[in-house]
Amino acid sequence: MNTANLNTKIIGHYINGKHITGSGSRLSEVYNPATGEVSAHLNNATAAETTTAIDAAQAAFPAWSATPALRRARIMFKFKALLDEHANDLAKAISLEHGKTISDARGEVTRGIEVVEFACGMPHLMKGDFNDQVGTGIDTYSMRQPLGVVAGITPFNFPVMVPLWMIPVALAAGNTFVLKPSEKTPSASLMLADLLAQAGLPAGVFNLVNGDKEAVDVLLSDKRIQAISFVGSTPIAEHIYSIGTKNGKRVQALGGAKNHLVVMPDADIDQVADALIGGGYGSAGERCMAISVAVTVGDIGDKLVAKLQEKVKTITIDQGLNEKADMGPLVTPQHFAKVKSYIDLGVTEGANLVIDGRGYSHKGHEQGFFLAPCLFDNVTKDMRIYKEEIFGPVLAIVRAANFEEALKLVNDHEFGNGTAIFTRDGEAAREFTQRVQVGMVGVNVAIPVPIAFHSFGGWKRSLFGDHHIYGMEGIRFYTRLKTTTSRWPSASKNIGSEFVMPTMK
Ligand code: NAD
Repeated sequence: MNTANLNTKIIGHYINGKHITGSGSRLSEVYNPATGEVSAHLNNATAAETTTAIDAAQAAFPAWSATPALRRARIMFKFKALLDEHANDLAKAISLEHGKTISDARGEVTRGIEVVEFACGMPHLMKGDFNDQVGTGIDTYSMRQPLGVVAGITPFNFPVMVPLWMIPVALAAGNTFVLKPSEKTPSASLMLADLLAQAGLPAGVFNLVNGDKEAVDVLLSDKRIQAISFVGSTPIAEHIYSIGTKNGKRVQALGGAKNHLVVMPDADIDQVADALIGGGYGSAGERCMAISVAVTVGDIGDKLVAKLQEKVKTITIDQGLNEKADMGPLVTPQHFAKVKSYIDLGVTEGANLVIDGRGYSHKGHEQGFFLAPCLFDNVTKDMRIYKEEIFGPVLAIVRAANFEEALKLVNDHEFGNGTAIFTRDGEAAREFTQRVQVGMVGVNVAIPVPIAFHSFGGWKRSLFGDHHIYGMEGIRFYTRLKTTTSRWPSASKNIGSEFVMPTMK
């Protein structure tokens, strides 16, 4: 395609310390979801361009991994300060391509910065273990060493936070990095490259290719990529995990979700309704930790539905840059059509659509991808709208007779990312947290995203791999353990050849 004829900006890549527009042979559209206009074109990286990014990361690895951890951490300190300084610009860039509200986007940036703060402690966090005199005159010590070139592949819904789940930990541990952000929301991720360079990161340590499957296929097959962190939908996560591990790489692949919030009969109805409104419709439901199912236990269902109908009316829907907006549009016309088709499906399947947001048109932005909140009642576990991830402002109410039935619903679901229980009964809450088959659990907290010094990850088909992401799990993922056993015998103490398995005497 002749890029000269396009009157939008062209988004390219960042390789070896330089912005590169790319070949322009495969362009895709980036939208402003609020207006429905194409705001930019993305130059999807070719295989050759992706290989160039890996070349740069490979060349930078020896010097970067040999840089003292304290000096690497000091770059993270500067990066953190720059992120604080540019938090609003980043939030604006997120909002303009994703559609989420600016206040929500600021929250995303803050949660990303927290992982940078964690990585500033890397000299301490990577400290090894030492035992002297494990045998006579023998000492043993273990240390963690970086892997080499590692890659991150990230989803559209958190263009800053999810890359920051990976980059600070990987870099501070001494790895070099190739990031492949979502082609739907590329601009904010690209801004991270400039801030890392301003913080003093040497060229080649962090590289970014914008693109699609063609770039991902190179990351999956190039032998120099030691590990891949992926966050996105379950079918792609499973694909990345199976091909990546087959090719000998470490892979952590975080997938989709269907997060249940269990409402016990003793729960405070206003608190629950507020939690469901924020957790279900915040970010237009485009969060992997969004609440998409409320399981009401006993007779609380009718009261809750009435309360939700009342509270939904108070939600302010607008373009994301409006500081007063609670909820913005969906990300692309394709995603809008997909979410809407699920609502149509729910009606066909026999669920009761008590709040129908399909007819919504936003005054002044009629071409925007706005969908108002939808609420289905009497959803059953055999319906596709219950089984599948919709990833939009659609909340389903499922009725359960008792706690055991509610717990079984959560545990039988194929996804196990997040869940929550709302109750005033400590015994029920403890029983739930002990027995639930889900990676992240909230007790009277709707969206229990762990803080940076814990780790994030789901169970079942919400995560493929052995490690959760960031926190100590991130350090384990991005490092290899090396254990050295040493002795320094003088010539007079030569013990001669040993033919039996050495034991420590
Ligand atoms: P997606 O799976 O479509 O895309 C994720 C990444 O994979 C993108 O970078 C994309 O370019 C790439 N990709 C897409 N198709 C590919 C293919 N065929 N081969 C190789 N690479 C491919 O996900 P999305 O729509 O960007 O994001 C939404 C999904 O991400 C939801 O399912 C959501 O639950 C999930 N998500 C999960 C978490 C989590 O922590 N578990 C966090 C955020 C989002």
